[in-house]
Amino acid sequence: MIFDENELLGGEKLKKLQLERLQKTVRNVYDNVTFYKKSFDKKGIKPEDIKSLEDLAKLPFTVKQDLRDNYPYGMFTVPIEKIVRIHASSGTTGKPTVCGYTKNDIKTWSIIMARVFAAAGVTKNDIVQNAYGYGLFTGGLGAHYGAEELGAAVVPISGGNTKKQIQLLEDFGSNCLTCTPSFALYLYDIGREAGVDFAKLPLRVAILGAEPWSEGMRKEIEEKLSIDAINLYGLSEIIGPGVSFECIEEKNGMHISDDHFIAEIIDPATGEQLPYGSKGELVITTITKEAFPLIRYRTKDITVLSKPTKCSCGRNFTKMTRITGRSDDMLIIRGVNVFPSQIEDVITKFRSLAGHYQLVIKRVERLDTLTVEVEVINEFARSIGTVVMADGTEALAVTHEKVEALKQNLKKDIKDLIGVTTDVKLFMPKTLPRFEGKAKRVIDNRVI
Ligand code: AMP
Ligand code: ZN
Repeated sequence: MIFDENELLGGEKLKKLQLERLQKTVRNVYDNVTFYKKSFDKKGIKPEDIKSLEDLAKLPFTVKQDLRDNYPYGMFTVPIEKIVRIHASSGTTGKPTVCGYTKNDIKTWSIIMARVFAAAGVTKNDIVQNAYGYGLFTGGLGAHYGAEELGAAVVPISGGNTKKQIQLLEDFGSNCLTCTPSFALYLYDIGREAGVDFAKLPLRVAILGAEPWSEGMRKEIEEKLSIDAINLYGLSEIIGPGVSFECIEEKNGMHISDDHFIAEIIDPATGEQLPYGSKGELVITTITKEAFPLIRYRTKDITVLSKPTKCSCGRNFTKMTRITGRSDDMLIIRGVNVFPSQIEDVITKFRSLAGHYQLVIKRVERLDTLTVEVEVINEFARSIGTVVMADGTEALAVTHEKVEALKQNLKKDIKDLIGVTTDVKLFMPKTLPRFEGKAKRVIDNRVI
């Protein structure tokens, strides 16, 4: 279903609207954000040089580091009195990326998210159980406002609380579930243990996103929960969830709300724009945001764009495929964005640890677990003693209280910095793999 008539726009009409909105946005950032004035001036570009949509390619990119450099409010175009909401990207270092919204921005986002629900076949007669986390993360409030905009009844349960989620699915008769795909499966496992027959629940559809997932996982979720599973994509810097979404008619590619975002695909190595059908990094320019517009923002997400054609749902919007990876090394662990370099920073602060480490990720009972494997330095190993294993190798006396203390301290510092609980395994010097070229720090054993 369609939520508003702009969703039916296409062809020249859509292009004209995009250009008008782009020109206005470019003018806004040039006049009000020092960072953009400087970066445009450096390239010798003035807002009036943007005469066609093709001229977008002349503009410089914006990257996450630019947002960090202008922390917290330097990228906003309006004074704080015009801001009504502040979100921040999850799991970052001392400086998260901060996203501000005016009243109009919240309205725009609500409409964009109402489209997502409508496209999934949700109506005002439905009950939406919103299990995305509420807080600085955009998932919870983004889905909440969208479902309300549509007129559905929202159950704002937020993430976690699995037993309660099951109870409400049964007692409230929720028709739509919004959460991460891994949480949907986790919910199923816990529900089954408690004897819930999912086929008998009123639950009809789940709108899932915030982390990578696969077609195989969709099939599993749909079969186990007896529902349709819809893919939803977004990132906080651009607006939050709602940048693109599948329609229930096709469940094949996610529609980008072209009247709010201009999408491009680039070669991540050269920055060169690639034609429709090519795999590359998604770059997005927001053309309706007031407080925090972004020009050519490099999402680092890898996807393929397809030329806009009419879809059976009625939309003409550009479609993008599932995200197939990232052009940087960001990991998403239980919904939190984690960069290996952040963990490396913590490790290097411990004098007893060597800089050799690897991060092992597994999915245990549907939840991601991260184990930090790291070598201790020789002096530390000698100071506490070693044991000889059956195969003749030497191992650390892991029961020693100094080993336990070191593990706990590392765990605590990582938790403090990135907000994720990890397991820590300490290794003897020179026992972890060494690399001649680029180190392979991450062993991701998740099957998704
Ligand atoms: P955040 O800004 O913290 O919400 O994180 C946004 C990131 O989550 C995106 O850049 C993607 O890497 C990832 N993400 C969000 N939705 C999806 C999705 N449907 N499929 C794959 N990755 C996603
Ligand atoms: Zn469609």
